[in-house]
Amino acid sequence: MDDRTYTADAEPGEEVTVAGWVHEIRDLGGIGFLILRDTAGRIQVKFEKEEMDDDLVATGLDAARESVISVTGVVEEEPRAPTGVEVSPEAIEVVAPADTELPLDPSGKVDAELSTRLDNRTLDLRREEGQAVFEVRAEMLRAVRTAFRAADATEINTPKIVATGTEGGTELFPITYFGQEAFMNQSPQLFKQLVAGSNVERVFEIGPIFRAEEHNTPRHINEATSIDFEGAFCDHEDAMDVCEDVVVAAYEAVADNCGRQLEALGLEAFEPPETPFPRLTYEEAIERINATGALDEQLTWGDDLPTEGEKALGDDVGGHYFITDWPAEIKPFYIMNHEDGERSTGFDLMHPRMELVSGGQREHRREHLIEGFERQGLDPEAFEYYTKMFRYGMPPHAGWGLGAERLLMTMLDLDNIREAVLFPRDRQRLSP
Ligand code: ATP
Ligand code: MG
Repeated sequence: MDDRTYTADAEPGEEVTVAGWVHEIRDLGGIGFLILRDTAGRIQVKFEKEEMDDDLVATGLDAARESVISVTGVVEEEPRAPTGVEVSPEAIEVVAPADTELPLDPSGKVDAELSTRLDNRTLDLRREEGQAVFEVRAEMLRAVRTAFRAADATEINTPKIVATGTEGGTELFPITYFGQEAFMNQSPQLFKQLVAGSNVERVFEIGPIFRAEEHNTPRHINEATSIDFEGAFCDHEDAMDVCEDVVVAAYEAVADNCGRQLEALGLEAFEPPETPFPRLTYEEAIERINATGALDEQLTWGDDLPTEGEKALGDDVGGHYFITDWPAEIKPFYIMNHEDGERSTGFDLMHPRMELVSGGQREHRREHLIEGFERQGLDPEAFEYYTKMFRYGMPPHAGWGLGAERLLMTMLDLDNIREAVLFPRDRQRLSP
């Protein structure tokens, strides 16, 4: 069916059929122009009323904007046309007409509210910027997969319907599973560890996570895509190395292969982040935050970093950085502690604007793990399927989870995480 020529490939002198959407029509009296848009770009179609068949001219110039049309004609050089060429039409067909009233303007000349855009995502993605975001997203994920393969990791897929959550019940979406209570998974954490303990050793997964978080912020959604890594015989330092490589590989691939998209997004100055990413301990981080004076109250050991504090530190550091050696008490039970028992091997990768990653070395000693469950108020019995495998030779291992949408939103400087998801799920939005 698709024997058309992409607009970007139309060469002068050729007879082509181009097909796509009516982007714009300009009727100047004796002459009229139709700008046709497809995935590759745009091309001008010129109608000369005196010389051309009336029906042909009317079909072209009366087509409603955003209708799908197919045009056959000869490509001619035209320096005044936006792409330097234009089509002189011989035949034109309206393949699928559009209503004359559109809920939003895909040419982007009229701004629309984010909610209107998300309600009409198909139209919204016809905007150059919308298309660009998701093409960058695809390239980013391709590069992430390649970087994981280079790090000897095997791609896995773990269940999203689960019997127990990873980190307690508060953020879980319950569902009914053949009359039994079940949940949408918050994280592949326990499953990826179970596979890292097998001969597969190093694994990665790119898949959905579900968080019943009540808050509504520009960086939280209720269904996100998590890029996860877990590696046997890795410690937290090794895990941070892999993390840095994956993030930098994603930026480099986008810089190398997404020039057109970056231009559409006004990001001509795009550059991969500088390496190595600084590694600050939690203690250094709170001292630096306190020194900025950004917070009314000084932070002390054991405090979570408030958003304002993270922002102040981000401005101070000015690029990606890790925060390491978090207090054991504020990291989950499955994170291994340092020998002092006070500090954990947990780390976060931060972008100056927000957290991107949490990770750490895992507790692989079964007795310590069971104690951890109890400390966190979780019933170890309910996690028997998991703790059992720690009786049969579980190697030391470490890993992390990276929010794909947060990586994309910080990479492209998007204001709201919803811009980085095709069909976001949040407190207000369940369709489309
Ligand atoms: P935050 O404190 O920013 O809410 P978190 O510490 O609860 O994040 P983790 O459980 O550490 O999140 O998950 C690992 C990563 O997954 C986060 O660093 C983030 O990139 C991503 N992530 C987690 N929850 C969400 C969410 N609701 N929306 C988008 N991304 C998320
Ligand atoms: Mg976290």
